[in-house]
Amino acid sequence: MHRELAEELKAKFADVLMDGIFSAGREVDELENGICRLLGLTSAIACSNGTDALELALQALGIGQGDEVIIPALTWVSTAEAVVNVGASPVYCDVDEEGLIAIPLIEKCLSRHTKAIIPVHLYGKMVAMPQLMAFARNHGLKVIEDAAQAFGAFQEGKSAGTFGDIGCFSFYPTKNLGALGEAGLLTTQEEELDIRLRRLLNHGQSARDVHELMGRNSKTDSLQAAFLNVKLKYFERWQETRKKLALVYLNELEGVNEIISPQSILNIDHNAHLFTVRVQERTALSLYLEQQGIGTAVHYPLPVPLIKAFHRPGGFPMAEKISNTTLSLPLHPYLTEGQVLSICRELKRFYGK
Ligand SMILES: *Cc1c(COP(=O)(O)O)cnc(C)c1O
Repeated sequence: MHRELAEELKAKFADVLMDGIFSAGREVDELENGICRLLGLTSAIACSNGTDALELALQALGIGQGDEVIIPALTWVSTAEAVVNVGASPVYCDVDEEGLIAIPLIEKCLSRHTKAIIPVHLYGKMVAMPQLMAFARNHGLKVIEDAAQAFGAFQEGKSAGTFGDIGCFSFYPTKNLGALGEAGLLTTQEEELDIRLRRLLNHGQSARDVHELMGRNSKTDSLQAAFLNVKLKYFERWQETRKKLALVYLNELEGVNEIISPQSILNIDHNAHLFTVRVQERTALSLYLEQQGIGTAVHYPLPVPLIKAFHRPGGFPMAEKISNTTLSLPLHPYLTEGQVLSICRELKRFYGK
């Protein structure tokens, strides 16, 4: 990817170097406007990373000490970290077969301290947002979408991140749109929240040296915004390639009963971030693939409440089942169809087909 883009990225670096603006500025404005156009957003607020985006969202909604926030038991730790770091308590809800917060189980997580829900669009697949929003509004709860893995996914014609009060994205290098370092983004439908988020991430300032709020520094690195502006032009083409390769996987693995494939990956509300299969003999399979030079990963080996730092009792049978069986196969726009075919050949060989 970066070999193909190298000349453009180097030219951007030279521009930023000569410009001498390294925090916020023109490149960040261009990124926010470009993303608004691409995803049809009314507001896009760039920030330092996706984890800060979640924390800023909670702060902007006034969530803190004594409050409870419902999050799925299966997610990247950031979702839980952000809740703990604002002084609130995460309440874990088990997930469904696809690894998404199980909407029918949310009710059991409610208490009089519940203030918000953070649905996570895990692996790039969106939670059924109209349903989740109806539940949240019925119970007077705020919704922050953790759309860190779902940049480019849409439901009912609307981008991930635009259903809840605030949506959070990440441009961590491995995400579908990745910086050459750290960056993130927030979106909201409410102008007042837009203003508050922009102030919070810039030391609470409404103007230079006017600190209206207790803020922090989560501003965006101009160089990362500049690199993202280069990559943004390619995003839609990359998405098409991801979907094309995902289709090859689905077709090739159709007859392999030992492998449960992500059937919804071609849908518009899945951005094909990860191609996660479920298999019983995960360790042996990943080892075999590694010996053939094929890298795999596990997203994630433990549900968050079972991780040491977050430890919470309680059973999360589906989250545990997925943690024990999930395996992410290679999927990115610089793979070739031939490479995917040969990965599938090895998968079939492992199962003696
Ligand atoms: C990547 C990710 C984040 C955090 O984003 P960073 O930019 O790495 O801080 C949050 N939630 C989920 C689900 C993620 O995958």
